[in-house]
This record gives sequence, C-alpha cells and structure tokens, in this order.
Amino acid sequence: MGWFSKGFDDAEAQVAATSTGWVRDFFMKNGEKAEGVRIIDDDTVNIRAHFVKGKGWFTCIQGVDDEACPLCEAGNKAQNQFVLNVIDPREYTDKNNNTHKNQVKLWRVGITLLRLLNKRRNTYGPYPTLKLDIEKMGAGAWDIVAEKTDEEIKFAEGEEPYIREEVLAPKSRKELLAIINNDSFSSNNNDDDDDDDDEDISWRKV
Ligand SMILES: [Zn+2]
Repeated sequence: MGWFSKGFDDAEAQVAATSTGWVRDFFMKNGEKAEGVRIIDDDTVNIRAHFVKGKGWFTCIQGVDDEACPLCEAGNKAQNQFVLNVIDPREYTDKNNNTHKNQVKLWRVGITLLRLLNKRRNTYGPYPTLKLDIEKMGAGAWDIVAEKTDEEIKFAEGEEPYIREEVLAPKSRKELLAIINNDSFSSNNNDDDDDDDDEDISWRKV
C-alpha cells in the first residue's frame, strides 16, 4: 500500500481499517441495569486479552505466533474473554448533545457470566432469540432474566455487528511494545483517528 489513496470509497476503507481503537465495549457499572439487551451472535469468539489502563484491551499474542507477548512479559495478566456483539438498549447523550440508543457494542464476558448466559440459552433457546434484562450487582455478580422473543433484532441507522475476527485480531509484538513504551506516540495516534469525536467509549473512562 502506498502513502495515499484517492476517492470516497478508499476514504471509508481507510477509516474502517484504522478505527479499530474505537470499538464500543458493552460496559455496566455496579448497580446498573440494562433492560432488553439483545445478543446478535449465535456464539462467542474466545480470546485472551490484556487491559492497558487508558488504552483499552489488547488480544494476547502469547503462543499465537513465534513471538512472545510483551504484555505477558510486563506482568500484565491476560484474561479469558468470550466476545459477543450485543445491542445496548440504554440511551445516552454525548457531549455534542446527540442521543444514542440501540448501539452495537462488543461484550467481553468472563467465564462466570458466560456460564450464566449458557444456562439461559439451554433453557430458552439460541442467543439471538433472547431478550435479556441484565443487572450488575457487583464485581462478578450478575442477575440475568431471559425471555424468548420473536422480535427481530433492530439496528440503529448505519449500525452493523463488528466483525470480531477483525476487531479482536492481535497486534504484532512491535506494535504492542510501542503501546507499552511510547505513550505519546500511541495516544496521538488514538486522538486523530476520528474527527467526529462523538463517541462515549467505556474503556476510555476507566
Ligand atoms: Zn499476553
């Protein structure tokens, strides 16, 4: 690939290719409740991932390639994550006063929560046919009420599920090292990814 491309289609493709840092995570605070959550995917994509404060999640590359994972080396413990696209029914207003509802988000679920979801699936049917009332009572303490529904999953305008194999794809050892070692480089990189700047991204607030 050269240093520039031309035209609208390539502009869109370029933004799509460089905007993976802007994936919206489905995030709930303790005591929060979300009613009518829909899971879009039939099943999870299972990965191990590291959380880097202020920068978000990074898929662990230990044992994936020949290269050792620099985050593992740095003592950052990888978590097992089981990842699903969901529709978040909660409404929120961003700092530009735009209201969002029913946005597609990535839900990174741990094993305890996954077992609970799997139980609901065994009782009521496949994930996309369920309507879920989810309450986070505390760290690792969830209450999930499931109901089977015929309602089709509705996407907000312009929304579609994330292609998990793409947005979760691991970075190279070199890129991960840059993220660990060169703060100014990576934060600059994040900031000019998108001039719309209207996203309220949960992992950036953590
Ligand atoms: Zn790792």
